[in-house]
Amino acid sequence: MQPAAADPHAEIREEVRKLCARFPGEYWRELDARRGYPTEFVNALTEAGYLGALIPEEFGGAGLGLSAASAILETVHAEGCNGAACHAQMYIMGTILKHGSPEQKQRYLPGIAEGSLRLQAFGVTEPTSGTDTTALRTTAVRQGDKYIVNGQKIWTSRAEHSDLMLLLARTTPKDQVAKKTEGLSTFIVDMRAALGNGLTIRPIRTMMNHNSCEVFFDNMEVPDENLIGVEGKGFRNILDGMNAERLLIASESIGDAKWFTQKSVAYSKERVLFGRPIGQNQGVQFPIAKAYAQMRAAEALVQKGLEKFEAGLPCGEEANTGKMLAADAAWAAAEACVQTHGGFGFAEEYDVERKFRETRLYQVAPISTNLILSYIGEHVLGMPRSY
Ligand SMILES: Cc1cc2nc3c(=O)[nH]c(=O)nc-3n(C[C@H](O)[C@H](O)[C@H](O)COP(=O)(O)OP(=O)(O)OC[C@H]3O[C@@H](n4cnc5c(N)ncnc54)[C@H](O)[C@@H]3O)c2cc1C
Repeated sequence: MQPAAADPHAEIREEVRKLCARFPGEYWRELDARRGYPTEFVNALTEAGYLGALIPEEFGGAGLGLSAASAILETVHAEGCNGAACHAQMYIMGTILKHGSPEQKQRYLPGIAEGSLRLQAFGVTEPTSGTDTTALRTTAVRQGDKYIVNGQKIWTSRAEHSDLMLLLARTTPKDQVAKKTEGLSTFIVDMRAALGNGLTIRPIRTMMNHNSCEVFFDNMEVPDENLIGVEGKGFRNILDGMNAERLLIASESIGDAKWFTQKSVAYSKERVLFGRPIGQNQGVQFPIAKAYAQMRAAEALVQKGLEKFEAGLPCGEEANTGKMLAADAAWAAAEACVQTHGGFGFAEEYDVERKFRETRLYQVAPISTNLILSYIGEHVLGMPRSY
């Protein structure tokens, strides 16, 4: 939909398209039915170097900018595949890159870049605290040269398919810090060593195939050398990576919107009723056209956010607003697609119902629409903080 000449990542998109063609609807349908992990697809992306796109060349990555990563994930989704199985491998490492010691970077980044070390799990959300992150209850208490971790996380995606987890835990009780954002710390947990030694993982069956889990810590030991950055300043480390995450998830939603729209257009032209294609009826055309317009607006804002991010400028407004508008556009396109397909929108073999379930997530995760509106109200428009 964007002219190739204007797109600096046209070549990457073309290569990703070719890779995705090896993983058609049947592949995802079969996995969806048994809630399986797309190992072959993730391996293919890893081998092609896409998951190490953002890692600097000195650590074995491709050293590309966020806009290249966005082009990769958008294309994955526009081709009917799903990046959720592995997108975190692209951006969680940003915390190590930005806040890790030189020794930690050497220890982890080359392995993450080549895929021999999977950093796919991000342990922030907890069942009781939810969006109220600073109220999290998981504690990490220093004992000699290690920390003892106790607590629970929920919705830790890909926990069963990751070697490492980036964990946010409280190291100083909330009532002993001046600000509730202080006293939280980030750790790299070696899940291979911890599994069965204080770490338990329990998968959650969800409406789509997402490999998300509950994770329990019972006196799990983490060596103090795995603390990332400064103890008590971990919330900042997590916040730093959020704009990148939002812009990338927004790109996936834009890809979804493009997939739905292309499906809707094709079907509306070939389905003939009452002697003409259904797409000739404006009642069918308009919802598809409207969702397309929404997608283009979101795409422009996300593009602006990517440019600012790559220039090192603040991009919170574009990242948050772009993420919300992209998720809304994908959902509008999904809704139009089901409606255009009539009964066939509900049939598994068309893939529409699967993508419909998958795309719904992004109005809730990684941040829900209301929280983005709060961000705009408070930080962009200067209205009073509501929570
Ligand atoms: C499939 C899936 C995968 C996920 N993967 C991960 C992961 O890998 N790692 C991780 O850490 N987390 C993950 N999450 C968690 C996700 O980030 C949270 O679900 C999301 O941030 C919302 O938090 P919550 O579910 O606790 O909802 P809650 O915080 O309980 O909120 C419930 C509803 O209330 C609204 N609400 C809450 N407070 C306010 C307010 N002050 N004003 C207005 N509305 C409000 C919210 O917008 C939401 O709609 C995942 C979630 C899902 C479903």
